Amino acid sequence: MPNIKSSPKIGQSSSNCVRNFTVQFRRPYEIGIPPDNYNGEYGFDWVRDEYIYPLLSIGGKKDTVIDILGTPRFVHSELYKVFYHDVNTRINFPSRYFPSWLYIFATDCKGIYGSEEINKQGACLDIEIHQEYLESIKGEYIEEKEALTDNGTVLQFEASNDNIKISTFDNNQNAKSIEEPLSNFINSNRNFMKLGLDYDEHNNLVERNRYFYKKKSAIKIICSGGTLKKNEHIIVKAKRNNCEPVDVGIIYIARNETIYTINIVEIDVKVNGKIIPKSKNHEIELRNKFFNQALTVFKVVKKEVFDLDLLSVSDTEVKDFVDKWWNKRLKNDGKEKYLEVVSNKEELLKLSIERKKTVDPTEFANAEFIRELKELYWRKKKVGLSPYSEIERNTYIFFAPVSVRNARVKDTDKWSYVLGSASFKAHSNILYSEGEYSSDQEFSNAVVIFKDSVEFGLLETYAHELGHALGLTHTFESGEMFIYKRGYTDNFMDYPQREDNTDSKFIDRLSIFSKYQIDMIYNRSRVGGILLPWKWTYPELPLTTSEEKKEKEEEEKSGLDKIIDEIEKFIFD
Ligand SMILES: [Zn+2]
Repeated sequence: MPNIKSSPKIGQSSSNCVRNFTVQFRRPYEIGIPPDNYNGEYGFDWVRDEYIYPLLSIGGKKDTVIDILGTPRFVHSELYKVFYHDVNTRINFPSRYFPSWLYIFATDCKGIYGSEEINKQGACLDIEIHQEYLESIKGEYIEEKEALTDNGTVLQFEASNDNIKISTFDNNQNAKSIEEPLSNFINSNRNFMKLGLDYDEHNNLVERNRYFYKKKSAIKIICSGGTLKKNEHIIVKAKRNNCEPVDVGIIYIARNETIYTINIVEIDVKVNGKIIPKSKNHEIELRNKFFNQALTVFKVVKKEVFDLDLLSVSDTEVKDFVDKWWNKRLKNDGKEKYLEVVSNKEELLKLSIERKKTVDPTEFANAEFIRELKELYWRKKKVGLSPYSEIERNTYIFFAPVSVRNARVKDTDKWSYVLGSASFKAHSNILYSEGEYSSDQEFSNAVVIFKDSVEFGLLETYAHELGHALGLTHTFESGEMFIYKRGYTDNFMDYPQREDNTDSKFIDRLSIFSKYQIDMIYNRSRVGGILLPWKWTYPELPLTTSEEKKEKEEEEKSGLDKIIDEIEKFIFD
């Protein structure tokens, strides 16, 4: 594990050697808005600026998207764990550097089951050159911030594996290692961005600022000729004169030797002659714009119609089921018929009396519906394996032609829709707010897509619910690795509405997989090919610098001091 030195500080030898900057790999991105020219063709994740710096106006004030709650250091160290997990080369800058991750299928290798048609062109990425500097609150100048100039610095991009081929600026070099003058990356606008208040290495409050240059479509990365057996990388070194080359950037490229499949059985529930209309392309889109990002292959292994109209004719159980959900339980507000999600005490009490047992307040109509539908299907179709079996690998997607809604949002004519629902069995080591999920009511491999999803994004709903079935929870829920503010990310496990019921900028574009979610999917048993117990925590990263070590010791010490203080307070107060 090489420990890389930072570029020299001002007053040292910077005039002859390499200036202070970092190289960042990005897919098309603008803060807080969906990109026009990226549609999930490959998997890519990095720490967005707005996640950790207060750059967006959220709830009337500038805030971070990740809930940082006064402990930025903890969040940053958790992010480092995620982004430096399972790699054998790290670069370590004194300033913050979060690497990006790329997930692409290998192409041109025989017998490899992958997504050759979509990653044949590889991934075309932007390159940003960052000059970050800290300025003390007193206005004292701390680090260099002069514009970069063409001083003969050369950037070398070098892949760690022969199967990774790099091209710059559309030149199709397809080489393992490429050199390109820095001047080619800084001949565009120099932009400025205030990142907000931060702490320097001596714990003084400072302003973090950034100058940056952005070069669109600057680098193309392809994996061809063979697969990657472990996580690989491209490291960027800056060279000038006879100085020691300096590491200025890195991107990790995920192993793609084993490709997992997600086996799907699609079931059209037919009631009153109706089924949910779907586009013909939905299978291709889910495979090539969503689940390919996690290097998994979405595969419909069977399609069928569960014809409740036909079965009702001779089967009273089916008839009763249809009568319950498409007649008795339906509400009618004059214009529309819908199932109302149970949300108030009176309803629960009524339901408990009706069913002669205490109804769990968490058992919403959708949870009850999905369980009954799944069990009915199991009995009528006599599927061999139990839905609760860990060995059963298929995931069952039911399309049910019924609307499920919460009561209208108070004082508005807005509905709150339930577009889909997944039966989700959480591992006990995920912390949920009490009563939010109740595992005995849920099994882990069925999804229902409801009627309103047709209007509001069937594809996004499908992917989202399947995400639950694969073991993922919402990005904004407590118990997640990070809590993101609802409606401020393009993550497929986010919601299209924010807390205040306004629309997310990413509505209809919730399609992005985060690295931690990909890691979690790999550690679940619901993808074909692996069967592992669900347990996912990132190990501690080894410390690489003496400063970090000292910092940690001090933090530990101050933690201990706090405890001693508290004990003393307890004893003496
Ligand atoms: Zn959900």
